[in-house]
Amino acid sequence: MKKIRVGILGVAAAAALCFTAGAVYLYARGVWQMPIPADRALPVLMYHHIVEDGEPCNDMTITVSRMEQDLRWLTEHGYHTVLPRELAGGEPLPEKPLLITFDDGYRSNYELLFPLLQAYQMKAVVSIMVYMQDVSADNFLSWDMCREMADSGLVEIGSHAYSLHNLGDLGGNFDPGGINGIQRDPEESDSAFEARVLGDIQKSHDRIAQAVGQPVTFFAYPFGITEPDAEAFVHELFPVTAVTRHGTADLGKGLHELPRMTVTMDRELEDILKD
Ligand SMILES: [Zn+2]
Repeated sequence: MKKIRVGILGVAAAAALCFTAGAVYLYARGVWQMPIPADRALPVLMYHHIVEDGEPCNDMTITVSRMEQDLRWLTEHGYHTVLPRELAGGEPLPEKPLLITFDDGYRSNYELLFPLLQAYQMKAVVSIMVYMQDVSADNFLSWDMCREMADSGLVEIGSHAYSLHNLGDLGGNFDPGGINGIQRDPEESDSAFEARVLGDIQKSHDRIAQAVGQPVTFFAYPFGITEPDAEAFVHELFPVTAVTRHGTADLGKGLHELPRMTVTMDRELEDILKD
């Protein structure tokens, strides 16, 4: 009898050990994560372009009706939008804080998003590829639009670099196997990298501050790609930064490299926020 009891206890102990070892292994690999305490959790949503209802959508676009549906759902479920500058300033956060981000600076952010933000009194950060404003590119926000949105207090203008979003021959697209966004070219010297990449990031910051007249606190990495040789520089210049890795941000880990959740037409916001 005694023997059997020892046997069962031994099995239980071995199982507990296996579970613990497995959990530690998964946690270390980033596969399994401890739940984030509610007072430290910040969902960050990522949007890009908005189109009129009925127009085709891809992973970068949603319709204006869907945008309104998301803002209504968030309001009805007690979410309160915050801006990067509020996070950076250490202001007390509202109940159920949420950060809405728009990348690339499409003109639709002014024409279709801004009226909805005003109607629902919700806030968003719009991160622009500053070169587009300086050359008055079609389909992108003008400086006047940026200023008007920023002056409302509902929109903060963030940086998405000056012209490092593969704006040359690639037309802003990701280059598989190539040098993307703020990545360093292995061939380039320290001084060449500093001039090409760090200079571009600094220019984006300074142009927004000058043209919009507000502090610039947010950087959305082009393609979500970080660069070790630029990390200290970016963190020094921008108190809040975001990548495209999926997940809820844990404010206990600071305000840099916040993960985000992509919002697409094929999934309800409620489901996206559950991930
Ligand atoms: Zn982008």
